Amino acid sequence: MKIVLVAEYRDGKLLGSVNELIAFAGKMAADSVMFLVGSESALPAYEGKLYLGDVGVCGEFNPEVHKALLLDVIAREQPDMIVFSHSSYGWDLAPRVAYALKAAQVSELVDVVDGALVVPVCNGKLRRNVQVKTGKTVVTLQAGAFGLAEAPTGTPAVEKITTVSAGRLEFGGYEAAEQGGVDLTKAEVIVSAGRGVGKPENVAMIAALAKALKGEYGASRPVVDSGWAEHKRQVGTTGQSVAPKLYVACGISGAIQHLAGMKKSEFIVAINTDKDAPIGEVADVLVVADLKQFVPLLTEKIQAL
Ligand SMILES: Cc1cc2nc3c(=O)[nH]c(=O)nc-3n(C[C@H](O)[C@H](O)[C@H](O)COP(=O)(O)OP(=O)(O)OC[C@H]3O[C@@H](n4cnc5c(N)ncnc54)[C@H](O)[C@@H]3O)c2cc1C
Repeated sequence: MKIVLVAEYRDGKLLGSVNELIAFAGKMAADSVMFLVGSESALPAYEGKLYLGDVGVCGEFNPEVHKALLLDVIAREQPDMIVFSHSSYGWDLAPRVAYALKAAQVSELVDVVDGALVVPVCNGKLRRNVQVKTGKTVVTLQAGAFGLAEAPTGTPAVEKITTVSAGRLEFGGYEAAEQGGVDLTKAEVIVSAGRGVGKPENVAMIAALAKALKGEYGASRPVVDSGWAEHKRQVGTTGQSVAPKLYVACGISGAIQHLAGMKKSEFIVAINTDKDAPIGEVADVLVVADLKQFVPLLTEKIQAL
């Protein structure tokens, strides 16, 4: 199998998600080449051919120009699969490329099992195994689903590419999301509330524990979607990515989208009634308890210190 990995460059930097693309190629035991609109001063560690468009000429985000460049690489390489990250860049570019190739697109891949592409359905509660019938397939990878035990090494063999396509869009720049008074990325301690808190009033006990530990409180997506916490407190792929010294996950199952935002935390404590909850796989300590009893007791003990 031959695949093209589409790396990303944002705000003057190569994105770390390139390592997930490389991990995916490894898992597929595929021959790969890489595509990047970026700069020679920030190349990925990669053992293979890298088609490099100049970001200074093509722009960081110009889907029509990037599509023209990528289609040219695809015509040369004739890959079976074109692989994007499931990011705003991938969401925009992947369907344009799939449509141009009349290829199937499978979005948000989390695994590959016996050749079937595995994607989440029903908000991540179920998984669907997909078999593709077209010759070429375009996929996007869920953040955090494919990882390497060690950082990749190597120097790519760069081939510069250009296009005459100017596109009809002009990149206007990035706008930082409003942070408000909370910046979870700077907190050394985060205590997060999951759906296991049961009702909005119980978020207060999570906030109280966070305060006792001199930290901030965060939340999983269902808690935010229910309006029990503000979006700026959401941890995960569609929220904040955090790496505090201590992360306490209260009533959080450990869905891949949540783990992607917190698994780099130095020390993880999970409080869950289910001893088999997936959060246990990343937790340093798993407390099997009802958070409604355990969290207030823990807060009291810490306050008494
Ligand atoms: C495109 C996409 C993006 C997403 N982005 C995010 C994201 O950024 N962040 C995010 O968090 N999710 C995200 N999700 C949702 C994600 O798939 C999960 O649905 C979500 O993380 C589950 O949240 P949870 O763990 O709080 O709830 P659940 O999965 O319902 O888990 C609740 C947990 O609480 C435990 N529990 C229940 N009662 C108690 C109790 N009394 N005491 C202790 N434990 C108890 C249960 O055993 C269970 O493990 C995204 C999904 C999609 C499809």
